Amino acid sequence: MSDAATDPGSKPGTATNFIRDTIIEDIASGKYDGRVVTRFPPEPNGYLHIGHAKAINLDFNLADEFGGVCNLRFDDTNPETEDPEYVAAIIRDVKWLGFDWDDRLYFASDYFEKLYECAVKLIKDGKAYVDSQSDEELRATRGTVTEPGTESPYRNRPVEENLDLFERMRAGEFKDGEHVLRAKIDMAATNMKLRDPLLYRIRHAHHYRRGDDWCIYPMYDYAHPLSDAIEGITHSICTLEFENNRALYDWVLDNAWTVPRPHQYEFNRLHLTYTVLSKRKLLQLVDDGLVDGWDDPRMPTLTGQRRRGVTPEAIRDLCSRVGVIKTDTRVDLGLYDYAIRNDLNFRAPRVMAVVRPLKVVITNYPEGQTEWLDAPYWPHDVPKEGSRKVPFSRTLFIERDDFMETPVKKFYRLAPGREVRLRYGYFITCDEGIKDPKTGEIEELRCTYDPKTRGGDSADGRKVKATLHWVSAEHSVSAEVRLYDRLFTEAEPESQDEDWKSFINPESRIVVEDARIEPSVTDDPADTRYQFERQGYFWRDPMDSTDERPVFNRIVTLRDSWAKISGGHVETTVERVDEAKAAPQRPPVSSSEERKPPRLNARRRERAERFEADYELDSQDAALLSADDAIAEFFLEAVSQGTPPLSAANWILNELLRELKGLDLADLPITASHLAELIALMDDDTISGRIAKDVFAEMIESGEKPGSIVEAKGLRQLTDQSELESVVKAVVEGHPDKAETYRGGKTGLIGFFVGQVMRRTDGKANPELARKLIEEELA
Ligand code: ATP
Ligand code: MG
Repeated sequence: MSDAATDPGSKPGTATNFIRDTIIEDIASGKYDGRVVTRFPPEPNGYLHIGHAKAINLDFNLADEFGGVCNLRFDDTNPETEDPEYVAAIIRDVKWLGFDWDDRLYFASDYFEKLYECAVKLIKDGKAYVDSQSDEELRATRGTVTEPGTESPYRNRPVEENLDLFERMRAGEFKDGEHVLRAKIDMAATNMKLRDPLLYRIRHAHHYRRGDDWCIYPMYDYAHPLSDAIEGITHSICTLEFENNRALYDWVLDNAWTVPRPHQYEFNRLHLTYTVLSKRKLLQLVDDGLVDGWDDPRMPTLTGQRRRGVTPEAIRDLCSRVGVIKTDTRVDLGLYDYAIRNDLNFRAPRVMAVVRPLKVVITNYPEGQTEWLDAPYWPHDVPKEGSRKVPFSRTLFIERDDFMETPVKKFYRLAPGREVRLRYGYFITCDEGIKDPKTGEIEELRCTYDPKTRGGDSADGRKVKATLHWVSAEHSVSAEVRLYDRLFTEAEPESQDEDWKSFINPESRIVVEDARIEPSVTDDPADTRYQFERQGYFWRDPMDSTDERPVFNRIVTLRDSWAKISGGHVETTVERVDEAKAAPQRPPVSSSEERKPPRLNARRRERAERFEADYELDSQDAALLSADDAIAEFFLEAVSQGTPPLSAANWILNELLRELKGLDLADLPITASHLAELIALMDDDTISGRIAKDVFAEMIESGEKPGSIVEAKGLRQLTDQSELESVVKAVVEGHPDKAETYRGGKTGLIGFFVGQVMRRTDGKANPELARKLIEEELA
């Protein structure tokens, strides 16, 4: 058995699943002499999507883990919808994902002769018959879930007659629909799949591989088990919608095959929020012109995601994070974005690009002068080396959004009279905004710089509240930038009453014609993924970019802006809970646990060791805190103000770093004393832990002190006994049946009551006190 940890597709610690457990049992019992043979069986009637990646990942990784093999088999038994274009695309996509089937590329259409022979055997054994009813008659006699079907008048045709008719069906003597071959099972079976299912139908259609050799085509439920058996598949893995088909799968093999024979296992399809994953529907998007094609970067197809700039590693990472279980679930699109960011974080050098440029003239900077300033590619927590030079000159561009003529509250960036830092550059102060006389819009800023702040540090310890990215006007490269976002505005577009296509997000692609990128990017290979600081991850569109005019696709934003809009909660469905249980799914946020332990240089390593020894931190946390100098100082500062080191470390690693993803600590309007005060408020029970998170979010946004936020919003913890008592009474009275059940011994319901009390008090009740009062009330 090979070590799962060495396989790039599966992560160490990946939860096992019921299929893997079965394989382990089968190997132990010697069921297939220890062999594991799986297959990925796409129908070439469309392009593969992210859902297929889950199946591919599972099929190939399970075989690989147990020293087996996985075949790529085209399930091409339906001549009407299949196309060699799709075959080529599927082959390319599976390869791109990083999987290899050696020479085991198979086509079900190559098995037509063998399948025909097996059908003849079934007829001879009296297990199949030719039915000559029309399509409507067949449908009408199937019965319903509650009523049995009706037996066909042709059911008892003599074997000889069946053989003769079947041969003539093959020879092309009949028209489409004149006859079918059916299995003779049981028209009263509760599983409707077993009510004499069709095995063959007549189709006078051209097959893309077999041409006009055949005019009868096997049905999926007949061709699939036999194709598996012909290839010696042991574990035939498919998705849950085939659960009822398994009885037929087994019937076909029991009656038309000998041992050894495969077994079918079904797992849950991947569904993502704000996405449709069905080839048929994706084809409609293409046909209706709602997207540019199968490789439109907004499409959840592998070819679309590849063009967008997503790497196969990110997709495999997503696949290893979602559960393989027996319940249909919907996975938060945020988890996919998270996997993409996690992957790009370690491969994307940080550079500066201005998406919506606003011209800035530094009036006291010498005309014609250019300084090439040092700028690290990896300024944050990624332990990589490397830097480039960025040109600074008299005329620059900054982001239009980074300036406000009349700044609103909480806006700390550039405004008239205000000083900010240009990243790696200088401090600049805005003296004047020049307006376009016609539109009245600001079209240029006049600023002055402080020559003593070169590199972005003030000599006198003067602080600024914002750091902006920028490019030199003359040196920057003009580019088109395509800002991609989720394709649908509804989390579950297909489950709405309205047509799912009416939920296309009109802002799923925003094209910016004249963005400006720092010149260093022109030196890099075309497939370099970048983090444009403060903007997101980007790469050059492989189709539309030219040397003269690069086109950059936004692969993913730096943070989940949608989660913020919906109130800081990443939306989930109820079923998600099941999934979490089955395979511990890490949430789409970063916590200290999932950050890789950084490699540190000697100085930082020493500091980490000191943190570990002095503050009793665990070594991973100490290393993470020490990896970034600004973070380390922030931590020390908080501790020096009396914050317990463990609390400080937890808040910084779990909350602050998540807020920071891709930003500088200097970009946040808070200091260590904010954090120290917040933790103190929590420790002295002024606020609950739940409220503390809200206050944290608020202070990160506004820079207000936590104490003032708590007072201004009335967030003090409710510890007044009589006040809480009346809330508890109301809650208990409001749920008489739950109270009854609790008193009957189901004391686990205490959690429910505490939750209700917390809700009624907007999270302000002291939970321990609430619990005590509830217990008393219910006693
Ligand atoms: P679609 O419904 O998108 O047309 P399909 O199931 O018809 O997909 P196939 O080409 O028959 O597509 O699929 C090949 C394999 O991929 C099957 O084993 C199928 O179960 C699996 N598969 C398809 N969609 C998903 C998904 N969303 N999640 C996991 N596996 C999937
Ligand atoms: Mg299918």
